This record gives sequence, structure tokens and C-alpha cells, in this order.
Amino acid sequence: MRILLVEDNLKLSTYVRRGLENEDFTVDGVGTLADAEVALDTAPYDLMVLDLGLPDGDGLDLLKKLRAQDNHLPVLVLTARDGVDDRVKGLNAGADDYLLKPFAVEELAARLRALLRRPDGALGNSLKVGNIVFDTSSREVRVGQNLIKISRKEMGVLEQLMRRSGKVVPKDILESKLYGFDEEVSPNSLEAHISRLRKRLSQAEASVTIHTLRGVGYLLSDNADG
Ligand code: CA
Repeated sequence: MRILLVEDNLKLSTYVRRGLENEDFTVDGVGTLADAEVALDTAPYDLMVLDLGLPDGDGLDLLKKLRAQDNHLPVLVLTARDGVDDRVKGLNAGADDYLLKPFAVEELAARLRALLRRPDGALGNSLKVGNIVFDTSSREVRVGQNLIKISRKEMGVLEQLMRRSGKVVPKDILESKLYGFDEEVSPNSLEAHISRLRKRLSQAEASVTIHTLRGVGYLLSDNADG
């Protein structure tokens, strides 16, 4: 994922760049609107992080210009201005999200991932393992060409297993993703969902296997991977 970071405060820019690089983003940093325009013309970015107060102008002007050119690059606006006004202006100018300074880079990384996962975002919105395709925005699961019907909880289990296919998903993590704090969960509830899910997938001739690692968790593998 390649990010253009437009921020003139060198200290902040360095902090953000290092932090995002640690989270496996590729980051190009520039400090002016002019350099941002050159960068946008030169490299294919998946996303832009845009400061508003820049030495040669207002970040919002660049954003408006992009949108006027029908450029839909996801843009997260950084702002030190704590006014609702600026937030609204930013979103009206076509920003996809905004973050108030100061912020933790982990929060920024999480927001960027969310933007990239949107429909049309670079991370896409479908998960694929073997012959199963899970559309995470429409919440539809297909095995081959066939839509399969599974319960909401089974879908939740499948999504977590598919997101980490080939890796063990600990039981407590699955449970924490599936059940709200105030939900009654019987000790065998997760096992029951897994068991029904296995049955559905096998009936639909899915080319995957859900393995149980006793006392640890579950793992989804593509049968083609052995
Ligand atoms: Ca600034």
C-alpha cells in the first residue's frame, strides 16, 4: 500500500512515516502542496494523508482540485483545528476521513486500513480461499458460483478464519469477535457454530477444511495447499 503523506511539520511527518512503515505501508512524504501535486502526477498512490495548513496554501484546495478532476483517491485529512466547521468543510471538500492532532500513529494506521477496505479501496472487499469467495460488504458467501446461506454467527466465524487462512485463530479471539459483552455464551456454542459451518461448506463442496487444534483454536486451509 503506497501512501502520500503531505505534512510540513518535519517532526510529525517523520513520526508518521516511521510508524506507518512499521505497519507495512510504503510512505512518501512531502511538505508542500506543490510537491504533493508533483508526487500525485508521478506515482500511483492508494491513499493520501493530507495536512491542511501548508506553507504554500490550504490542503483543502488540493483536495477540491482532485475531486473536481474526478480523482477518487481516498484522502484522510489531518487537522489541528478542533472546530466542527473545519471537519465539515473537509468532508464537504471530499475528504473520506479526518483525524485531529495530536493522534497516535496506530490510530492513523487503523483508519487508513478501514479506508483501503472500502468498496473500490485497494484492499478490496472480498476474501477468497479455495473456491469460497466472501464479499465483506454485501455479506454474501459463494462457493464456486453458488450463493450459500449461513447464519450471521457462522458467517462471522468464516470471515475470521478466511482473514487468517493458513493460520491458527485462537478460540478466545473468535469468541471475542463473535459475541457482545452482554451475550450469554455457552461453553460449546462456538463448537456448535463451527460444526454447522463445516457441514454447510462440505454440502456446498467447498475446497477448504476447518481444522480443530484442541485447546488452541481453529485453522482454515485450502485443500489445494495440502
Ligand atoms: Ca501544517
